[in-house]
Amino acid sequence: MEDRYSRQILFKPIGENGQRKLGQKHIMIIGCGALGTANADHFVRGGIGKLTLIDRDYVEYSNLQRQQLFTEQDVIDQLPKAIAAKKRLSEINSHVEIKAYVMDATGISLTPLLKDVDLVIDATDNFDIRLTINDLLHQHHIPWIFGSCVGSTGMSYTIFPDQTPCLQCLLDATPMSGATCDSVGIISSAVQMVVVHQTTEALKILVEDDHALRTSLITFDLWHNHYQTINVEPAKNSECPTCGNDPSFKYLRYEFQMKTEVLCGRNTVQIRSNREVYLEELAKRLKNIGPIKLNTFLLSIEYESYRIVFFQDGRTFIHGTNSIEQAKNVYHKLVG
Ligand SMILES: [Zn+2]
Repeated sequence: MEDRYSRQILFKPIGENGQRKLGQKHIMIIGCGALGTANADHFVRGGIGKLTLIDRDYVEYSNLQRQQLFTEQDVIDQLPKAIAAKKRLSEINSHVEIKAYVMDATGISLTPLLKDVDLVIDATDNFDIRLTINDLLHQHHIPWIFGSCVGSTGMSYTIFPDQTPCLQCLLDATPMSGATCDSVGIISSAVQMVVVHQTTEALKILVEDDHALRTSLITFDLWHNHYQTINVEPAKNSECPTCGNDPSFKYLRYEFQMKTEVLCGRNTVQIRSNREVYLEELAKRLKNIGPIKLNTFLLSIEYESYRIVFFQDGRTFIHGTNSIEQAKNVYHKLVG
């Protein structure tokens, strides 16, 4: 075994045996923002075998304050976050097999990628995607670690399908509204606090030290010096639409996966289409409309007071509006 993991191997609960297991495990991180990049950094430095990164967005200046794998050059190049993160992570540890996907996390897009995944890290920023993950991983019996942060607060909880309450059970028992939007800002230390809990629990799962697992939900407010662990076992609900006796898995329905949505706190609407986009062709068609930036993964164009970003997989961001109707008008003016 290489010297690079020597300090981790010296740590008794991991040891040579745990390190070997880690090198055979496959982790998927959904979301490559603040939580995703910090989680990925830990796993790649620690010698995970395989890492799959999923993200639908690209790097912007407002990300650099807390999204630790990105640089100013990534912003200038308008690189998708998954691609920029993979590039940086490969420089950190070239032995880890890293796959990066620029796409929405839906039941349809994630299912083919779940084969041999041992654990999923939730590094998303909204409950629609988390509830999709909740339904999907329940179907596939894959454990996952929920994490969220906003302002100076955060929380984390590990979900084992069929054993613990699922995210839907938790939401039904404790309203978590307000933690869904980034409009109140965030400090980077709150991100790190969630990440240390996610990565540590992940390590325990991956080296199979089940006795060490934390079974409670942890919640904190760093600015107001508040820490709490909550036993949420009583929240498990036999009527739950995800983990109950008669599940409906509503977040995996096709209509839900294709809906147009307002991206919270971003003054942006995402429109989904299932046809693949040929960006170079599109660039030729739009060249007289406004200034265009094009790379392998996306095309962005300034039009009236909007900035429109087309992704290869058929998604479009309309920046500059929170109105779905307005966004659809702009979209149809440009692509018919
Ligand atoms: Zn449930």
